[in-house]
Amino acid sequence: MTTPVNLLDFDLEGLAAWCDTLGEKRFRAAQLFRWIHQRGVADFGQMSDLAKSLQGKLQGRALVAAPAVISQHESKDGTIKWLFDVGGGNAVEAVYIPEDDRGTLCVSSQAGCAVACRFCSTGHQGFSRNLSTAEIVGQLWFAEHFLRRHLKTDQRVISNVVMMGMGEPLQNYDRLLPALRTMLDDHGYGLSRRRVTVSTSGVVPMIERLARDCPVALAVSLHAPTDALREHLVPLNRKYPIDELLRTCTAYLAHAPRDFITFEYCMLDGVNDSAEHAQALIELMRRHGADGLRAKFNLIPFNPFPQSGLTRSPMARVQAFGKLLNDAGIVTTIRKTRGDDIDAACGQLAGDVQDRTRVGTRIARQRAVVLHQVPAPGAAKAARKMVP
Ligand code: SAH
Ligand code: SF4
Repeated sequence: MTTPVNLLDFDLEGLAAWCDTLGEKRFRAAQLFRWIHQRGVADFGQMSDLAKSLQGKLQGRALVAAPAVISQHESKDGTIKWLFDVGGGNAVEAVYIPEDDRGTLCVSSQAGCAVACRFCSTGHQGFSRNLSTAEIVGQLWFAEHFLRRHLKTDQRVISNVVMMGMGEPLQNYDRLLPALRTMLDDHGYGLSRRRVTVSTSGVVPMIERLARDCPVALAVSLHAPTDALREHLVPLNRKYPIDELLRTCTAYLAHAPRDFITFEYCMLDGVNDSAEHAQALIELMRRHGADGLRAKFNLIPFNPFPQSGLTRSPMARVQAFGKLLNDAGIVTTIRKTRGDDIDAACGQLAGDVQDRTRVGTRIARQRAVVLHQVPAPGAAKAARKMVP
């Protein structure tokens, strides 16, 4: 008996190709895909209008399985965080952030991360492994259908997905791509390309591939205006320096669903947050703006964790930095904290579960900074909402 295939591993094309090997037509694959993703059904026997012959072929050959939930925490403000077991002592997190006009899910792409940014607790954990497509999509599949039951609705709850959980999505490109396609597919989650955001530390060749294969909204974690400083904070900068990265961003705009790129900038006390840094950033963006780069900035107050040896910039400095950028015509917002009481911190989420109590303590130490933004002083009204 062969191991059953997890159908969450397939986008519609992949599922159609697999169904073809069973002698099943494409429309059957679309029907199956809708049962799984739109209705959240995992039991083939419950897929009432699916041909009995196909149901029979699926039994034993296939399954629909998201990673198991280790824990769930719900914040007073409605933010919900799940820790998923991905085997081998590894766990990843996903965070749901409800807002008036949207519901955003922050999704992980890897267990750990090899980029090793200085200010990121995922980076400090090192790299364990890439998530499979089923593990990436499974976070959305589980969260969406859990939330519909939880909120007692049959309407879609998650309207936006941001790949801002653990890991560098563009270093797991081959598994990410079918996951993105499933999010966008009308037979899947039907999300618009503007509402799916890939956040990257700047894997230049993969940004180029994403532009061709599946141009969703792009967020680039910049964090510094010069190569010397960025190399120190984001070691990947040695391979793909700032000018090359920003030229790639300009080229991405020709394909992007929005007419700007979002740049994330984590505010680190005394490291990258002075007026001189802001000025250097303004000059950098002017230089690339001349070639057509349109940018919005999102300042993220740093979530401190002990091993980093770094601290969060005082709020007054974050605001002053934002004002300098806004006054120079660069639309800038400051990310507002959400879910503090459950430590739902996007971008620096939990790691391995080899010692689950230790992970629990570590998560408990983290402070929450998630995806709701507020404009920095001087921000144009239009800048209110940065993450699509
Ligand atoms: N690897 C991708 C996506 C995951 S990180 C990337 O780096 O873009 C998501 C966001 O959280 C990034 O902008 C990252 O810089 C930010 N981040 C990571 N650690 C953080 C911390 N300790 N405090 C605040 N933001 C952090
Ligand atoms: Fe990896 Fe992003 Fe963390 Fe850097 S910030 S270590 S790229 S997850």
